[in-house]
Amino acid sequence: MRPLLYIHIPFCDRGKCAYCDFYSVPYEPRQAAALVESYGRELRMTTSHFRTIYIGGGTPSVLSRSAWATLLNACRRHASGAEEWTVEMNPEHVTGTLAHMLKESGVNRISLGVQSFCRQKLRCLGRRHSPSQAAEAVNIVRKAGIQNVSIDLLFGVWEESLKEWRRELAGALTLPLTHLSLYALTYERDTLLGRRLSRGDITPLADDIVAEQYLAAADLLRSCGFVRYEISNFARPGRECLHNLGYWQGFPYLGIGPSAVSFLNGVRMRRTAEVSRYLALDGGAAAVCEREKLPPAYRAREAAAVLIRTSQGIDFAAFRRRYGYDLLNTTRPGLQELVGAGILEWTGSPARPTGVRLTSEGFLRADTASSALLSHT
Ligand code: SF4
Repeated sequence: MRPLLYIHIPFCDRGKCAYCDFYSVPYEPRQAAALVESYGRELRMTTSHFRTIYIGGGTPSVLSRSAWATLLNACRRHASGAEEWTVEMNPEHVTGTLAHMLKESGVNRISLGVQSFCRQKLRCLGRRHSPSQAAEAVNIVRKAGIQNVSIDLLFGVWEESLKEWRRELAGALTLPLTHLSLYALTYERDTLLGRRLSRGDITPLADDIVAEQYLAAADLLRSCGFVRYEISNFARPGRECLHNLGYWQGFPYLGIGPSAVSFLNGVRMRRTAEVSRYLALDGGAAAVCEREKLPPAYRAREAAAVLIRTSQGIDFAAFRRRYGYDLLNTTRPGLQELVGAGILEWTGSPARPTGVRLTSEGFLRADTASSALLSHT
């Protein structure tokens, strides 16, 4: 099974977005240059043939042209066998020159952190681009010859009506997109929005309104030819993100960069998040600060909890082949309970099920299914 390659760029320019609790540090050009040099050394010594490459962050698009040249050069030798190579970008950084540079190197998928096409909502979220920059970014990427373009959008933002959300999404769908990731806004404690919430400055939308927004989006996307292949992910047929599918289907992966996680030969490893320490150690195995050998039963539990969030759900025979675990016979009462609650449905016949997946209603309660699978297996 060919592993996936994830490269983490831990920098963001000018502080954090109001909702974000991902690990990132302010962009520092010299540190960034040193970091991509270190990635280059590691990639030159890496012999794996990767199934996919994904450069994420942070904000990869904040890198300078010369840092990009170093990074793309280092990745290029791994790119020929890769089926997909994605780069995450923020709309305000997208230029024709950068898009062409990525295309020339073999990047064939761009994921844009758009979050919204509404000026007021962008301001509330602490994003730095304008709605027109977001639309323009999609067109620049397409014009450079990269056909596979995804955007992230946030919904469930306080004071946002269903009508406004529908209008925003309908506007997004006039763009030449192949993929959308939709996420409900969450108010994490150590974020600006989390602090505003605890001060009482914000009244979050009620859960049923957020659910309504999700269902409206799923309907609209389906009517426009997008397939929901995971709770938050919708793609034109054949344009599903292979990298994320790889995670959900249990492929091994190598994560390079501060705070990056790898999963290889049944061992999960996390690298130090501190950029200066990472640089002092020159990355690689030396930068691993946590190592955990996952017991097979635990690994199977985790895999089931993730896989159930995909539209295909879990095929028991395939799951047994992959994890050596008989999910049906070890968890049947728990699964039956979720089926009874309308969250899951059997595939095959109820008497002889071949698998299990979320019902349409279950897509709103997937966390319940995931937690149950984690504890029941
Ligand atoms: S949302 Fe993205 S751009 Fe904003 S702070 Fe978080 S990682 Fe950086």
